[in-house]
Amino acid sequence: MTNNIELTGDDFLEDKYDRLRRITWWDQDRLKNATILVVGAGAIGNELIKNLALLGIGRLLIVDMDAIENNNLTRSVLFRQKDVGRYKAEVAAERAMEMNPDIVAKAFTLNVIEDMGLGVFRRMTVVLGGLDNREARLAINQACYRVNVPWVDGAIEVLNGFARVFMPPNGACYECTMTDTDWRLINNRKSCAMLTNSQMNEGKIPTTPTSSAIIAGVQVQEMLKILHHDRNLPNLSGKCFVFNGLTHDSYIVEYQSKPDCMSHDTYPIVEERAWSVRSMTLKELVDQIKREVGDAAVVDFDRDIASVATCLCGEQKELYTPIHKLNARSVTCPSCGNTMNFSTFHSLDGTEDFLHKTLGEIGIPPLHIVCGRIGSQSRYFEFTADYDEIFAGLDMKGNIL
Ligand SMILES: [Zn+2]
Ligand SMILES: [Zn+2]
Repeated sequence: MTNNIELTGDDFLEDKYDRLRRITWWDQDRLKNATILVVGAGAIGNELIKNLALLGIGRLLIVDMDAIENNNLTRSVLFRQKDVGRYKAEVAAERAMEMNPDIVAKAFTLNVIEDMGLGVFRRMTVVLGGLDNREARLAINQACYRVNVPWVDGAIEVLNGFARVFMPPNGACYECTMTDTDWRLINNRKSCAMLTNSQMNEGKIPTTPTSSAIIAGVQVQEMLKILHHDRNLPNLSGKCFVFNGLTHDSYIVEYQSKPDCMSHDTYPIVEERAWSVRSMTLKELVDQIKREVGDAAVVDFDRDIASVATCLCGEQKELYTPIHKLNARSVTCPSCGNTMNFSTFHSLDGTEDFLHKTLGEIGIPPLHIVCGRIGSQSRYFEFTADYDEIFAGLDMKGNIL
């Protein structure tokens, strides 16, 4: 027997965010208006994205360069068997919008270390990390400090994990927390990649969907507190939440800011220009910078770029790619098979012989920011004409030019 009470459509029309809005300090509009970058769509990333979608975060940018493998299915709430072989970022973005049609999620299948311009970071409310390696953390940390955007890191191993918050321009940053061991591991990975051509991101750490849920939950709660920063809620800024999954003990570590840390370099002003890395040549850039900053100005990039490789046998080969992207094959001599030497640059003064190349052709990503400098006087310019390439469809407000 069923009872006679009939439910009409009106009975379900309660605001879907009602139980959130009942939190005294909550402002759902801040969530709706936020733009959050999630770096990594693995075990932690899946949990981050799930939480962000449920909460109604207005815009999500999801970055991951890998495809889904079978072993991801045990730790990734957004992925199904049929998704194996598809890109993680794409599937995660689709599922997020399925969970909550109020939000827009956009996938970026690229390497965050080299292929995401600083102008993307600059427009984020908060950056959330779901990463498995120190090098990517270091890159995100530097990007966030340059453009003054808070970021929340998370890490898991077996049943344990930790979550921590970095708030530029002040306080301890990720690099401040790094030990000699961390640096050694980063350098090992770099030399490994050069020797074996192995993937940099081959983190095969044992993890569980339970520890990723706990840590991602803490990360998203910290993000909520950043969105409500004027509510004077306690937070993890410059601190680390350490969770022991065997005992279920947890404690907080407070980090010290290192005065000689290299990552506390915040750009005071970013000037938007109608330039695109796709079409602007290095010559045009140098000319523009000299016009803006002065005849003696040079252009500084935030990365070392390999130019030409030469071999003892006389062979030469053009690289023109950021050194991070080099691998054993790119520096192997096509004639004799020996390892070639290569030169690098990170500045241009207008005398170079490769100025016909575009910024994109030397590995500068869309919407990036470059420095025009005379001596110690620096100004920072953004390739703002690339805006649509990144933000089309994301319905951003208050931008641009
Ligand atoms: Zn630091
Ligand atoms: Zn050779």
